[in-house]
Amino acid sequence: MPPRPEPPPGLYDLDHDALAALLEGEPGYRVSQLWQGLYAQARRPDEMTNLPKALRARLAEAARPGLGPLGEVLADDGETIKALWGIEGGGRIESVLMHYPRRSTVCVSTQAGCAMACGFCATGQAGFDRHLRSGEIVEQVLWAVGRTKERDRRLGNVVFMGMGEPLANYDRVWAAVERLHTDVGISARHLTLSTVGIVPGINRLAAEALPVNLAVSLHAANDALRDELVPINRRYPLDALVAACRAYLTAKGRRLSFEWALIDGVNDRDSDAAELAAIARPLRAHVNLIPLNPTPGYPTRGTPPGRVARFRDRLEALGANATVRRNRGTDIAAACGQLAAACTSVDAAAGPVEPAGAAAPIALRARPR
Ligand code: SAH
Repeated sequence: MPPRPEPPPGLYDLDHDALAALLEGEPGYRVSQLWQGLYAQARRPDEMTNLPKALRARLAEAARPGLGPLGEVLADDGETIKALWGIEGGGRIESVLMHYPRRSTVCVSTQAGCAMACGFCATGQAGFDRHLRSGEIVEQVLWAVGRTKERDRRLGNVVFMGMGEPLANYDRVWAAVERLHTDVGISARHLTLSTVGIVPGINRLAAEALPVNLAVSLHAANDALRDELVPINRRYPLDALVAACRAYLTAKGRRLSFEWALIDGVNDRDSDAAELAAIARPLRAHVNLIPLNPTPGYPTRGTPPGRVARFRDRLEALGANATVRRNRGTDIAAACGQLAAACTSVDAAAGPVEPAGAAAPIALRARPR
């Protein structure tokens, strides 16, 4: 199927001038009222009771296709929420909000689907649908800000690690970064872009004024294995990727991280640890280890816990910093690599809206369409 065409801008894509044009005929102060409401206060137009009703209705229409997610599911830990969104054109995307004791982190999607075709990733297995507009990315964050406030916490970090490849949708992702930094007040230092390793995109990031954090999904530290696991490696092999990482580090001075999904018998051997340490140590990169999460289209499992610890210890012994990441949201298919937005429980919750039964995942706020 050819990628879906991009729909026209929605409410959250408009800059200040375009918003003013939309409010033509209203008193001038409404523009800043609305701008502040949308971004500084993270309120949806239907929640802005300081605006006249007719105007709220007009704004709700401009928001297209709707206000807020179709439905939400809460994981068993009570601290991880997955939201499912219906995007214009009929596609679906997901965001995952994770609450921690002092701060919260939201993981947002940048594309509906993904064209990078990493075989172990559920989004990659499903293929590419379309790029998200910047407003569709920002709206996911605003939702998370609202949900976090309800728990008297603060949204501390945004990670662009949901569905899609951020650097394959560079301009819109960067517009979202600027909006979040400037208008929502989440500084670039708290924003992390994760990439399969699109070298020209990393080079562009290095030239931007705002210093975001860069995470690279490495998963293999030799070209033969990486060609297989992360197919874009055939275009941008490790030498080029490492050079781009080094240039980013020099330009920005932000800590670099490498993501490594440990796959049983595939990339969890001592020789893999040695190759990884040889790349990570000179870059002073931090390695995040996650045992591979199961996905429908990939038979090989994650590395068992004992060998995960051994792999981490090997890395540390070789002078590389590594952390084993706690896996959150596996029970609601919200963990790394599990976002597919097609066959999930939240999708079911978003269907004809019914109160969720006691045993069912909770559709916290499914709303009628
Ligand atoms: N396309 C970008 C952004 C997605 S981030 C990127 O690849 O970096 C999602 C992260 O989860 C990536 O590090 C990805 O490699 C990882 N991932 C994908 N499938 C996974 C799985 N089944 N188990 C654990 N991690 C996975």
